[in-house]
Amino acid sequence: MNRKSHPLRAAMAALSCAALLHAELKTLRPGFNFFSPAQDIKLGQEAEAQVMKTQPVVHNRQIDDYLALLGKRLQQSPRAGKFPFSYHVIYDKNINAFALPGGPIFINTSTILATDNEAQLVGVLAHEMSHIALRHGTHEASKQNLIAIPAALAGAVFGGTILGSLAQFGLGLGTNSLLLRFSREAESQADYNGAEMMADAGYNPLEMAHFFEKLEANGGKGAPQFLSDHPNPGNRVKAVEDELEQMPQRDYNSNTGEFPLIKQVVAHLPPPANYQPQPAPGAAPAQAPPSARPDAALTGFSGGDYALEYPSNWQVFGGRDSGAVTIAPGSGLVRGADGNTSVGYGMIVSWYEAGNGAPDLRPATEQLIRQLESENDRMIVGGASREIRVGGQPGLETLLYSRSPYPNESREVDLLVTAARPQGLLYIVFVTPGSEYSQVQGVYRSVIGSVTFP
Ligand SMILES: [Zn+2]
Repeated sequence: MNRKSHPLRAAMAALSCAALLHAELKTLRPGFNFFSPAQDIKLGQEAEAQVMKTQPVVHNRQIDDYLALLGKRLQQSPRAGKFPFSYHVIYDKNINAFALPGGPIFINTSTILATDNEAQLVGVLAHEMSHIALRHGTHEASKQNLIAIPAALAGAVFGGTILGSLAQFGLGLGTNSLLLRFSREAESQADYNGAEMMADAGYNPLEMAHFFEKLEANGGKGAPQFLSDHPNPGNRVKAVEDELEQMPQRDYNSNTGEFPLIKQVVAHLPPPANYQPQPAPGAAPAQAPPSARPDAALTGFSGGDYALEYPSNWQVFGGRDSGAVTIAPGSGLVRGADGNTSVGYGMIVSWYEAGNGAPDLRPATEQLIRQLESENDRMIVGGASREIRVGGQPGLETLLYSRSPYPNESREVDLLVTAARPQGLLYIVFVTPGSEYSQVQGVYRSVIGSVTFP
């Protein structure tokens, strides 16, 4: 048989030829992911609700309509994907923008003020929308948590939120690092896809690259959070220029004409009521905001084998089917300089030595304290454990001191409460910035007094 005329071979040659012709413009597809697109959307909506509650989100019809209009133009592009996009502005002096999985996009007021023209603002939106379309947030999280994410998603099936279930594995919105910080590869993909979307909407893709380059000026000092969340994949302008060469020639003359006016409106916005000037992002806030302090009004929580009441202005992360529950104000979850999130203000309820039968209260508590000490080399035990009653049963209360993640706090007070139960040692840690502790002991007393074992 003549190999040259082999029909399969001829077909393959034709195919690879066609592939070559189209290799110039790539169609990017989402990578490996434990989440379904529907779970991206659910998680994004849960996280969006939390951001709306905890961040100084601007409610201005004119600005919202304008962003929605630009977003709608970009959504016409086949590269935008099919997610339900939403656009919000956060009042913040730091330049940043972020995309939650499944659709929500937040852009800081300072980012809008830093853009020179509408195409640059469209570029930021197109870049963020591309992170969503290419599902970078849940992809990165999946890659780095091969065991925790499936467990968290399984946990979420039993009711409760995906966000709460993730938080319990240290992966919630508080730990922005995973859902909101992208790899350089994801960055070049978002640039690439975003450039296509811009071109489809009639905006010059080079403006996106120019804006990112502008943020890089002065070593990126003007936009540290943006550049840590969206690390420069290198040579952004050159990459977009190369991509443009592969695109059909187009006129990039889209312009609503509203940009200068909107910029004026943004420049004169009053700070929202819940706005607190933030320190340089990436670092923990200097101290807990007053809104974090636990409310004396309590609300109920059932952990299955126990029930208690907690301050009504705090939120529960993790559900009744989980081994550990964190109850904290949103601002009590603090992202440290290392990118890890810790509880700076709040309470943790969990089991120690679960499954080994009923422990002896005092030795089990001492063992737990030794373990906490070994995990935290700055922890000091503040004296002997004191006997108390927990849910009508004998319990122990121990004061521990450690370093607070809030830089302005010289120390953190951790009040550890333990009770021996048939299932193991139940423990509650009340984590409090040192300067706050005298104010909150009464509330903690009420929380401890509310514990019951059904
Ligand atoms: Zn990015």
